[in-house]
Amino acid sequence: MRILGAHMSIAKGLAKTAENVVAMGANTMQIFSRNPRGSHFKVPEKQEVEAFQRIRREHGFGPLLAHAPYTLNLASGEERVYEFACTVIREDVARMDQLGIELLVFHPGSHTGIGEEAGIRNIARGLNQALAENQRIQVLLETMSGKGTEIGFRFEQLQAIREQAEHPERIGVCLDTCHVFAAGYDIVGNLDGVLEELDRVLGLEQLRAVHLNDSLMPLGSRKDRHAVLGGGQIGWEPLLAVLRHPALRDLPFFLETPLDDAGHGAEIQMLRERLADG
Ligand code: FE
Ligand code: FE
Ligand code: ZN
Repeated sequence: MRILGAHMSIAKGLAKTAENVVAMGANTMQIFSRNPRGSHFKVPEKQEVEAFQRIRREHGFGPLLAHAPYTLNLASGEERVYEFACTVIREDVARMDQLGIELLVFHPGSHTGIGEEAGIRNIARGLNQALAENQRIQVLLETMSGKGTEIGFRFEQLQAIREQAEHPERIGVCLDTCHVFAAGYDIVGNLDGVLEELDRVLGLEQLRAVHLNDSLMPLGSRKDRHAVLGGGQIGWEPLLAVLRHPALRDLPFFLETPLDDAGHGAEIQMLRERLADG
């Protein structure tokens, strides 16, 4: 069974959200690890967590993905920003692991002037203090579009972070189709070539999840604007080729297209129909 899901709001609680996932024809989901633009989080009741675990178990969910706040910047050279980012990632790794969530993805960060090398050093150091013994959760570096001073739009940068980490075996990669395309990796004209490059630099086995999005902005634009599937510069067929690729097909895929739950449900249904023939 294909593992398909979408980004979901958990405003109505974890259990209700998992029920909605089932109703959408999905079998995984992505949630924010806390308020994406602030720092607030709510600790769910024990009963709520138990109901959530039961639903995901009964419906055979694939790996679940938590997304750290967008405001988190582990690459920052500003002490207060950096210390805050260290605290947030450390707390969220622990809280999401406790919930039994398998994967936590984050945006590596923007160096905002201190340079790529210093930024990468900060990110690796921030991850080192975030990971504790006896956790099962994997932390994923997201491939970025490369806007501003963003780090992570080249596979080499992601590999440099892993190489400086004390526990690279707990750090994987989440491929965002919109972001890599905007960053200049031509998944439309040469998907095999892009995956060969990813394999050479990072190793395909580091891929743990895919964010499935079309891109409003063209190849190499370094601009991050998601579009609905088939509504952007990538298009339906190249996105289906990503899903069908033998190196990717068993990964969990998460929609982050600009749609509500009903829209995501329709996209998932379309994907299941189009994938049924191979
Ligand atoms: Fe993201
Ligand atoms: Fe993404
Ligand atoms: Zn994005």
